[in-house]
Amino acid sequence: MPFELPPLPYAKDALAPCISANTLDFHHGKHHQTYVTNLNNLTRDTPLASKSLEDVIKEAAADPGKSGLFNNAAQDWNHTFFWHCMKPGGGGKPTGNVASAIDKAFGSYEKFAEEFKNACVTQFGSGWGWLAAENGALKVLSTSNADLPLVHGQRALLTCDVWEHAYYLDYQNRRADFVQAFLDHLVNWDFVADNLRKP
Ligand code: FE
Repeated sequence: MPFELPPLPYAKDALAPCISANTLDFHHGKHHQTYVTNLNNLTRDTPLASKSLEDVIKEAAADPGKSGLFNNAAQDWNHTFFWHCMKPGGGGKPTGNVASAIDKAFGSYEKFAEEFKNACVTQFGSGWGWLAAENGALKVLSTSNADLPLVHGQRALLTCDVWEHAYYLDYQNRRADFVQAFLDHLVNWDFVADNLRKP
């Protein structure tokens, strides 16, 4: 069974005006699709084709000769995760267990938001901003290109795609405005809560 592009968990225009239908059309339909197509081309007729996406990522990460495979597999995982990190009418302060965990780790939601935005904005070139858990502690970090917490002993809880393709049609060079809109109007804290509950 080849790897497949998962459908978006909402309509293409559901995140507008923060993320336009045009951006999602390209980002999901072209960029994400290309990673999936490349992943299938790189794993076809190999034992990797029947492995889970996570196992392919870990195996590729351990082999410097498989950087192309790593990049496409990791970008498939990152984008699927990113789509679920957002929902129409999301964002703002979390509640419940997520709020408690964020207060414990960062002091307040405002301090977390400042640190997350800073990580996203200062990531040089293409990459991802993350809220992740490592040894039970929450931390904000950023990764370059396709890199992801999974291969660093960390568990992803939330991510924001800060590749230019994620925001350029709607915000041009204003990455900070995109990240602010993500935090204020898009974050799906229910998804973050689910990730936090996982062992
Ligand atoms: Fe992207």
